[in-house]
Amino acid sequence: MTAAPSADRAPGADGPLPERLARAIALGGPIPVSQYMAAANAHYYATRNPLGAAGDFTTAPEISQMFGELIGLWAADLWDRAGRPDVRWVELGPGRGTLTADAMRAAAKAGFAPPVHFVETSPVLRAEQAKRVAGATWHDDVEDLPTNRPLIVVANEFFDALPIRQLVRRAGSWHERFVACQDTLFLPIPGKQVPDAIIPPHLVDAPAGSIIETSPASVGIMRVLAARIVAQGGAALVIDYGYEGPAIGDTLQAVRGHAFANPFEAPGDRDLTAHVDFATLGAVGLASGARIAGPDGQGEFLRALGIDARAAALGPKVTADRDRLVDAMGTLFKVLAIHHPQWPRPAGFA
Ligand code: SAH
Repeated sequence: MTAAPSADRAPGADGPLPERLARAIALGGPIPVSQYMAAANAHYYATRNPLGAAGDFTTAPEISQMFGELIGLWAADLWDRAGRPDVRWVELGPGRGTLTADAMRAAAKAGFAPPVHFVETSPVLRAEQAKRVAGATWHDDVEDLPTNRPLIVVANEFFDALPIRQLVRRAGSWHERFVACQDTLFLPIPGKQVPDAIIPPHLVDAPAGSIIETSPASVGIMRVLAARIVAQGGAALVIDYGYEGPAIGDTLQAVRGHAFANPFEAPGDRDLTAHVDFATLGAVGLASGARIAGPDGQGEFLRALGIDARAAALGPKVTADRDRLVDAMGTLFKVLAIHHPQWPRPAGFA
């Protein structure tokens, strides 16, 4: 049965996302890369569980239980040194819920069993999370998190899924990158000129074709988190692949079936990500009155938290997983913490 079209929506508004985007572009003109990425990922995550061998990609908590366990013990240690206050555990974009399940199992053994809050927009993934974590509370947005009690927040491969804005250099000027549509083919084009004043001075004369990325959505979420932590107490741990920007580079990528794909094909049917600018996230934390630790490589961080001892205890079957988390992902993946100025410095950082 097909639903009757409602009067307040354009005909075809419920059709497949590529058709809807093509139509929006045909009617209103090319859209910014950020709008394209936001629409594509909202549809992508709302309609599937993309994690695991049968899906599109695998993340650290899905590689090994050691990842979530060490982060649970990291949190338990921080809570203990902060004087064991009543806190809340928060995970942003928990995927299948594996990290929190492993973390809370390990933390409970250290006497740490806080209430769990998830920030997740996807109904499909909320259902996955409910299978692995009992008694969680879900929120659509960081703004909706409770305003009482300190928060210990973890975000693994969350910020890379948030929309980025791309600025592209042409001869003598910088332009916001837009997405146009030719028949059914999407393609990036230089759009509106932006003032040179918004470009970091050391990058302003970059060669034609250079791209600079910013993520206003990531900055906005980090601002809210940092303000909450400064007001309520606690800390946030951000783990993702990234760099210390601003820098020249086009990092928008698509992954489907564990292989790279064209980000401008089949929007909503492949995972779009961009590298995370850790320098900018750290600066937002500092400007909000929080302290920061890192960014350090994921490999050094996990070693400092004791992954080698944990791997030895679990035996040779986890050697390959340990190597993947520490060596293969060890430097591209970075870890940044922000914390309340009167809270102790989190463990694991150089
Ligand atoms: N942290 C998990 C999953 C990473 S995939 C892991 O490491 O395995 C990205 C997650 O962020 C998914 O759960 C996705 O639904 C969620 N997500 C993406 N954009 C979001 C947004 N704007 N608000 C809330 N959750 C979002």
